[in-house]
Amino acid sequence: MEEAPLQFIETWDFWAQIAAAGFIGIAVLRILMHFVKLAMTKDFKVRYDYINENEIKTLWTGTVLILIGVSLIANSFLTEIGLFWFIIRWFSTFCIAFILGIVANNMYKFYYPFYIEKRLRLLRYKPRISPKTGKEMKLLSEEEEDVYLDEGMQAEEDVYSIDYDVWVDEESGYTKIEKYSGHLHALKCPECSYQTLRIIKEKLVTKPTYTEEGELTKYFSCSYCDHKAQETVTVGKLVAAPNPEAAPA
Ligand SMILES: [Zn+2]
Repeated sequence: MEEAPLQFIETWDFWAQIAAAGFIGIAVLRILMHFVKLAMTKDFKVRYDYINENEIKTLWTGTVLILIGVSLIANSFLTEIGLFWFIIRWFSTFCIAFILGIVANNMYKFYYPFYIEKRLRLLRYKPRISPKTGKEMKLLSEEEEDVYLDEGMQAEEDVYSIDYDVWVDEESGYTKIEKYSGHLHALKCPECSYQTLRIIKEKLVTKPTYTEEGELTKYFSCSYCDHKAQETVTVGKLVAAPNPEAAPA
């Protein structure tokens, strides 16, 4: 009967090491796959979206899995020490892992976005290559691009925090239109200076009509210092929709 706890610890040691290898293996694989996928994605815009959506999530999940794995390893050579120390040791490991987890979480939330934004900016403005001619395309300015955007797109640009980038191959006329959402984009917070200010809500205060401009309020919130800000912008008048009946046949 007295052998029972020791027996348990031996079995524990064995399985803890296997589980640790599993956790760390999955974590490394997951992070590796993310960067392999990025390296294989040739289209800058697709890469941009992929980083925006996945990178922090992937790194955070990987960190948690690694912390669990390392905690298991730290507590898997316990045959000699007995059940009492086993519990004490687990408790301290848990505390250390918990603190490291909080530190990592803060890094991903508040420091990593600077690095991500820098890479995203590079990706967004890197000259696109025309598939028609193999030459670099030109990014149109806000004024030039309207010709290429349909009414819905222009309205989206005017009203909500959406940006369309229009790339044109001047030789063949080939165009590529890319959509960027301001909601995903973090701005620098005027209060704490972290890159953590995001649009949380947009409200159309006054709807634009054919004769009057409208008003839109954007609400910002900082995920670091909880700073709140709002900005009201005018929304251009509606443009009369072309009547398809009136179009010449
Ligand atoms: Zn802030």
